[in-house]
Amino acid sequence: MKFVSTRGASPAVSISEAIRNGAAPDGGLYVPAHGAAADFAALDGDDLPSLAASLLAPFFAGDRLAADLPAICAEAFDFPVPLVVPDPADKRLRALELFHGPTGAFKDFGARFLMACFDRLGLEEAPLTVLAATSGDTGGAVGCAAEGRRSVRAVILFPRGRVSPFQRLQLGCWREPVTALEVEGDFDDCQRLVKAAFADPAVARRHRLSSANSINVGRLLPQMVYLAGAALEVRRETGVDPGLIVPTGNLGHGVAALWARALGAPIGPVLAVTNANRTLSEWHRSGAYEPRASVATIANAMDVGAPSNFERLARLPDPRRQLDVELVDDAAIKARIEAEHRRTGYVWCPHSATAAEGYARLDPGRREERVWIAAATAHPFKFAEDVEPLIGEKLAPPPALAAILDRPSTSRPIPATLEALVEALAEAPAAAEVPAA
Ligand SMILES: *Cc1c(COP(=O)(O)O)cnc(C)c1O
Repeated sequence: MKFVSTRGASPAVSISEAIRNGAAPDGGLYVPAHGAAADFAALDGDDLPSLAASLLAPFFAGDRLAADLPAICAEAFDFPVPLVVPDPADKRLRALELFHGPTGAFKDFGARFLMACFDRLGLEEAPLTVLAATSGDTGGAVGCAAEGRRSVRAVILFPRGRVSPFQRLQLGCWREPVTALEVEGDFDDCQRLVKAAFADPAVARRHRLSSANSINVGRLLPQMVYLAGAALEVRRETGVDPGLIVPTGNLGHGVAALWARALGAPIGPVLAVTNANRTLSEWHRSGAYEPRASVATIANAMDVGAPSNFERLARLPDPRRQLDVELVDDAAIKARIEAEHRRTGYVWCPHSATAAEGYARLDPGRREERVWIAAATAHPFKFAEDVEPLIGEKLAPPPALAAILDRPSTSRPIPATLEALVEALAEAPAAAEVPAA
């Protein structure tokens, strides 16, 4: 399988080159050059790592990572993904809990998959450096996924004073070869520095820079797996393809759901739910795509005004008919968290609550046609400061997040200049110096 750019002006590449490059040289995003199909009936009942290896095999066919794919999947899919019934009185709604990984959000899957790929690519050539700017969740997942690696290190930039206390802890708590840089500036400064480093050929070459941001196809492909796995489970139980409700900002989950359905997964209608950022819902309503500045919401990992995966969505046939879009503002998020906790005791995080609200807004007739799977993207404890006042209770951290609270956490402050970043890159521990576990 080859991967081509959405803008059509870059050479077709294999999956490992697409992963290594991040974005295509023409500024577009890599997409599979042609469709693939999987025999889902034969895969029913497989555990998640085996399902992942089978589903992703067509995309890795002919690539140097193909032989390692089963081992990569075993590394990335090694925690449970329960499909639960949040409200015993309504079994039509299921929550797919994607937050039982080491940093409590679904980004653990993509980050671990990607790092497992980079580690093998770095071993073949020379150690790589993953440089990532983060406004919160991604950096923690990438840092965690890089800890102890021998052929890839992570250098993570985050804005001082702009991340929550837990997020700050979660960025600085990973051991070698992970370095957290606390930048004297805002998230845009962090992104500007990362871009400047990539744009400097000497720096990019010396450190063999790679990126782990959400446009990397190595993060998107594994997201298909748990959506397809949950759909198979429901299809087996009910005989009907379930609907998927996916909270989305950059459209990672939205595109992953549509790609999985195109692969043949038993997925019915897809409902993408956004927070108050209106770009996607206005495009769906009018057909005109107009990126805008993002607005801040309590579902902050979805605060996106120009969804980076939109180019991938737009390439699908008749894109507006592929999915529905629902916008859920902060007031509706808060009301949904409060109401569901009072009624059922289940606690949704602010991102996942957009999906619960999307379900509640379905026409009753549509709701009853099938089971609807709502992706629960993060553990509510990560957003305790917003969630606890709504439910009137303290939240207990799950074991993985409690373990993070117990770790020492350090980050290196740097001014928002390329010189400071270059100096930090030179001084950050090298992947190859990490002793074998
Ligand atoms: C990143 C993130 C999202 C949005 O993911 P997309 O890639 O935009 O689909 C939703 N919820 C949480 C908790 C996240 O961290």
